[in-house]
Amino acid sequence: MNNRNGDAGRDVDPDLYRRLKALPKIELHRHLEGSLRLETLAAIADQYRMDLPGYGVEDIRPLVQIVPGDEPDASVYLAKFGTLRGFYKSPEIIDRVAYEAVADAAAENTVYFELRFTPPALAREKGYSLAEVTDWVIAAVERASRDFGIMVRLIASMNRHESVELGHEVVKVAAERLDRGLVAVDLAGAEREYPGDTFEKVFQEAREAGLAITIHAGEWAGPESIRLAVEKLGAQRIGHGVRVVEDSDVLQMTLERQIAFEVCPTSNVQSGVVRSYEQHPLRDMYQIGLLTTLNTDNTSVGALSLTDEYARAIRYLNFSLDDIKRLILNAAQAAFLPQREREQLMDRLEAEFSPAGESPTSS
Ligand SMILES: [Zn+2]
Repeated sequence: MNNRNGDAGRDVDPDLYRRLKALPKIELHRHLEGSLRLETLAAIADQYRMDLPGYGVEDIRPLVQIVPGDEPDASVYLAKFGTLRGFYKSPEIIDRVAYEAVADAAAENTVYFELRFTPPALAREKGYSLAEVTDWVIAAVERASRDFGIMVRLIASMNRHESVELGHEVVKVAAERLDRGLVAVDLAGAEREYPGDTFEKVFQEAREAGLAITIHAGEWAGPESIRLAVEKLGAQRIGHGVRVVEDSDVLQMTLERQIAFEVCPTSNVQSGVVRSYEQHPLRDMYQIGLLTTLNTDNTSVGALSLTDEYARAIRYLNFSLDDIKRLILNAAQAAFLPQREREQLMDRLEAEFSPAGESPTSS
C-alpha cells in the first residue's frame, strides 16, 4: 500500500477509521504528480538505473515524500516534484501512474474523483508534446475508471512560475479534449512570487472554450490572491484558500459567489502554510458557511490518504462524522459536472449517508 502512513490510522479509533474508509467519497483536489506509488517509482528507478542513492522504496522515499526532519516549507515541498519530473521516461510509465492513481482512489471508496495533472511536468523529461501526454493520461484514466467503477474527470494544471505561452498551450490541449472528460484548468505553483495576473487572457480563453476554472490561491499568498483568482481569472473554485479568513471583504465576496474551497490541511501543515493541524482554519471556514471540501492534494508526497484526512479533521479539528458527510456533499455540489449529474451524485450520496447505513455519532 503506497498510502500507508504509520500515524494517520491511529488518529482515531480503529472502528471509526474503518467507517471513514467505507464512506463513499469525493475528491476534488489531488495532483497525479504527487500521488504516485513508491513501489512504482522504485521499479522505474531500477529499470532505468537512474542516478539515485539506491533503488529500494526506502532509498526513494526521502527524495519524493515529506519525511520526519523535513522543514515545513514551500521550497522543500515543491522540491519533491522537481525530483519526480525525472521519472516520466516513457508512455508506458505515464499510463501506469495515471491508472494506479485512479485505482488508489477507488480503493478507498472514492465514487467521484477529479484528478489533476500538469502536462508540461509529464512531457519535459523526454520532450513529448503536451497533446501526447494528455492523451496517454486520458486513455489510462478511461480504462481505470471502467475497471474500478469510479467516475473520473480530469483537470489540466499549469504553473504560475512557468510561461504564459505554456499556459495558452495547456488551455488549447485541454479545450480540444473537453468531450473526453478533461473538464477544467488549474493554476498552481509559486504563488508569492507569481501572483498570476499575467494569466488573465489564458483563463479568459479557457472560459470561452467551456472549461471550468480552479486556482490555487490564498495558500502561500494572502487573501488578495483569492480576489485576483476569482475576479480576474474567473475561478469557480479555489485550491486551499485558507487565508480567506484574514479579510472580511474577500470572505464576503466568496460567500456571495458560492466559491468552493478545496481544502487540504495536511499539505498546508507540511508546506508551512499553517503551524499545526490544530491551528488549521478549516473549522472556521466550515462554520462561517463557506462551501468547503476536504482533499489530500498529494497522497504520495504527503504520505496520506483521503481517509487519513477525514480522521485528522475529526481528531484535531473537532469534526463529527456528520460534518465529514456534509463536506463530502459539499464536494458533490462543487463538482465540475453538469448540474443534472451533480444532483444525481448528491442524491446517491444522501441515500448512502442515510441513518439506515450509519449512526450519526463520531465519539
Ligand atoms: Zn494542489
